[in-house]
Amino acid sequence: MSGATRVLVLNSGSSSVKYQLLDMRGHRRLATGLVERIGEEAPRLVHTPAGGRRRERRERIAGHEQALRLVAEELDADGLGLGSAELAGVGHRVVHGGRSFTEPTLVTDEVLAEIERLVPLAPLHNPANLTGIRTALALNPRLPQVAVFDTAFHATIPEHAARYAIDAATADAHLIRRYGFHGTSHAYVSRRAAALLGREVAEVNVIVLHLGNGASASAVAGGRCVETSMGLTPLEGLVMGTRSGDLDPAVVFHLARRGGLTVDEIDTLLNKRSGLLGLCGANDMREVLDRAERGEAAARLAFDVYIHRLRKYLGAYVAVLGRVDAVVFTAGVGENSAPVRAAAIEGLEVLGLAVDPGRNAARSGEPRLISPEYARVAVAVVPTDEELEIATQTYALVSPEQSA
Ligand code: AMP
Repeated sequence: MSGATRVLVLNSGSSSVKYQLLDMRGHRRLATGLVERIGEEAPRLVHTPAGGRRRERRERIAGHEQALRLVAEELDADGLGLGSAELAGVGHRVVHGGRSFTEPTLVTDEVLAEIERLVPLAPLHNPANLTGIRTALALNPRLPQVAVFDTAFHATIPEHAARYAIDAATADAHLIRRYGFHGTSHAYVSRRAAALLGREVAEVNVIVLHLGNGASASAVAGGRCVETSMGLTPLEGLVMGTRSGDLDPAVVFHLARRGGLTVDEIDTLLNKRSGLLGLCGANDMREVLDRAERGEAAARLAFDVYIHRLRKYLGAYVAVLGRVDAVVFTAGVGENSAPVRAAAIEGLEVLGLAVDPGRNAARSGEPRLISPEYARVAVAVVPTDEELEIATQTYALVSPEQSA
């Protein structure tokens, strides 16, 4: 395996495949791409080799297996295919690892069977992830495949935070507990935040606010996650683009009994037609802000509900951690929306938190502080990089002597 320094990262979603090929020497991206609308109308593949021209393919793409075969063809065309001797392994994002997987894991038949067993916990995602792994294996059976779980970073959450207060036997029988998601992002961002502060990971307590289309918060003490806002599924917690986040569970019974909705309809309502979209008809924070500025009351309310929930979690996690060294914003909204960051932190000087308006408004792709010089707690923006984190974890497993 010596000399093989490249890692292919595959993120097979329910109707898409995102991929990146990275050279772990210097963390260079050699190619990136996306297959979208798999199995739907007008699917397309977009492939961009580093320093080369973006290529696009539009053809029928019936399923994930075919999508991955097309990805392999595109990589082959650039001499970067799955047969390349320089490829050390493939890192797969796997959404749900349940309690079985708390570390990145080299794929074996037993591992595949266990991911399959966890399908009921992530019925849309784990099957797509499995197809990704199986297709990559079929394309090159000798290539090490590593599963990197979205839940793994949260495995350190103590039992009192992971347990729902429901009948314990029922919970155990159905694997019901809080698992948390976006783990690779929370792991990467909390580590980068410590580096930004110039301190050891083990010394710092960080609250990470991952605000993308999906959104989650985590409390990380000395590099170990102790609490996170998503639960059994990515539905719990913050207000998101299309997901409700927290609500009284009795809303579900009410919708079934009084509203006559089926379980599947309620599932779709809460996951796809709620959050910002449900409140004001737009799931993109840029559009919500534009409309709010133009005086649209529903958009203003959607923004206020979003911020209120975020601040509730922020306050709760200060209490969970006791001492906080940094609050860190990341993902699409967190990295780009100065108004969201300002509103989330406004008036929290009593907690040692403040945002400097000039620093907050400055645009940059680099990790940076946005708190004023005098602030007791750092407020930072750290761009997330889930692909790099998956590649790093994969490389550490398949090439430990080189990644050290
Ligand atoms: P992600 O899931 O991390 O890719 O984030 C996607 C979301 O980021 C989009 O739905 C947008 O709402 C949000 N976003 C991207 N750029 C901006 C921006 N400049 N201001 C506010 N939100 C943004």
